Amino acid sequence: MIVERENPACPTEVVGTVPVNAPDAVDAVVREAHKQFREWSGRSLSDRLAAIRAAATELDVRTDALATLLARESGKPVADCRGEIGFAATYLRWVADHGPEVFGASAIDDGQGRISMSPKPFGVIVAITPWNAPIILSMLKLGPALAAGNTVVLKPSPLAPFAVAEAAALLPGTTVLHGGPDTVQALIAHPLVRKVAFTGGAAAGRSVAAAAGQGIKPVVLELGGNDPAVFLDDFALGPADYERLVLASFATAGQVCMAAKRLYVPAGRTDEFIDAYLAAAQRILIVGDPLDEAVTMGPVVTRAAMERITGLVRDARNRGGRIVPLADAPDSDGYFLEPVLALHLPDDADLVRHEQFGPAVPILSYRTENEALTRANDSDLGLAASVWSADEDRAFAFAAQLEAGFTFINTHNRTGMSLRAPFGGTKHSGYGREYAEEGLREYVQTTVAHAPGAFRAGGAGLPARAYPPTPH
Ligand code: NAD
Repeated sequence: MIVERENPACPTEVVGTVPVNAPDAVDAVVREAHKQFREWSGRSLSDRLAAIRAAATELDVRTDALATLLARESGKPVADCRGEIGFAATYLRWVADHGPEVFGASAIDDGQGRISMSPKPFGVIVAITPWNAPIILSMLKLGPALAAGNTVVLKPSPLAPFAVAEAAALLPGTTVLHGGPDTVQALIAHPLVRKVAFTGGAAAGRSVAAAAGQGIKPVVLELGGNDPAVFLDDFALGPADYERLVLASFATAGQVCMAAKRLYVPAGRTDEFIDAYLAAAQRILIVGDPLDEAVTMGPVVTRAAMERITGLVRDARNRGGRIVPLADAPDSDGYFLEPVLALHLPDDADLVRHEQFGPAVPILSYRTENEALTRANDSDLGLAASVWSADEDRAFAFAAQLEAGFTFINTHNRTGMSLRAPFGGTKHSGYGREYAEEGLREYVQTTVAHAPGAFRAGGAGLPARAYPPTPH
């Protein structure tokens, strides 16, 4: 079967067609990936890292063409697509630079014994990625998995399958397989698949984790978020900070896992905050054709997403919310929405309680810091968060109490990422980490050989039933 992917900015335009492979395609693909694993894992680490570095260089060369393709299939502004691809290349270089620290063998050899520790690849890894940042989210899995010596079968989203497939083809040891949930189930169940890395929503994440559990296969789950941004009463934001904040919520039309999705502002400063926010939004939010360099917000990804988000805004209005438009949406058949703020909403409104994954953001007033903390943490999700304060120590102290895997200080979303900082969720936002050394270690298991000192030549020996002596 083949499905078409339309351009969400112009749904009559077909960007391309994607094959939907049936589950019976899986066995041959995984067996081939396993054959590649034997060859790839046998290469030296420096050879593998050189191949990853070469892919980064090639990604740079192809950035413009890939960015245009990604903008057409996903609806993301082309400048953002270029940024994503550049960041993916930078990440691959980081993996090549830091691979030797993580993937090299290490040993201890002293009077207590000799221990050799080898970080070993798992074998064939399955990576499943969403549509909203397909290239960076795939490279976060492919880079470390391949550096460690694994091979990867990548299952991209059918909503943005083209640019990522071209980018993945630059990396040896990678096979792209398109298919639906039943094909994913067959992939995970395959005996030669040893680990699964998934980024996407909770529903798919649950079924992926359940299937992996049946096969006792470890999983990295990077799921959704409902990120709070908490402004402490001393927050001090200039015009550029407000612009950064607006894009922290509305980049990719709000369809970002770590977007600022609930804004908590002190009651005494809410009016001032809203005035400055509206002014910044007017300066920076331009909704339109993703291929237009000036545009900062494109359409949402599908008609279904447009209808779901429209429903959330309608419900917010019915719950007594005041809806404030931030920019005009073009009059077109594309899946464009007006970006809006929602004011005066109760905490149990759907727009507050659930990940909206769209361009509609509630501003919520609070009276005490404790109240802000309780309300920010009152969610099953715990991906990212942010704290804004003129006093950095105060912000870090507040951050330590937030139930979030990653807290940005005085920024939010991609401007706050660091290659050195592990990223991932708490609670229902998932487990496992990407980026930093932790993100590399997800793709190896340390195997050990140990000769206890007591039994090596010259050792004093131990009674047969003894535990080793306590180390000092
Ligand atoms: P999605 O869960 O619909 O799809 C993600 C991937 O899973 C796609 O490849 C899709 O084809 C596949 N899939 C869908 N249903 C499946 C099933 N039943 N079994 C197996 N695979 C299935 O998510 P999406 O709409 O592409 O992305 C949006 C979600 O992803 C949001 O919740 C967002 O917050 C989250 N996300 C999280 C991160 C992160 O790093 N934590 C990053 C980006 C997006």
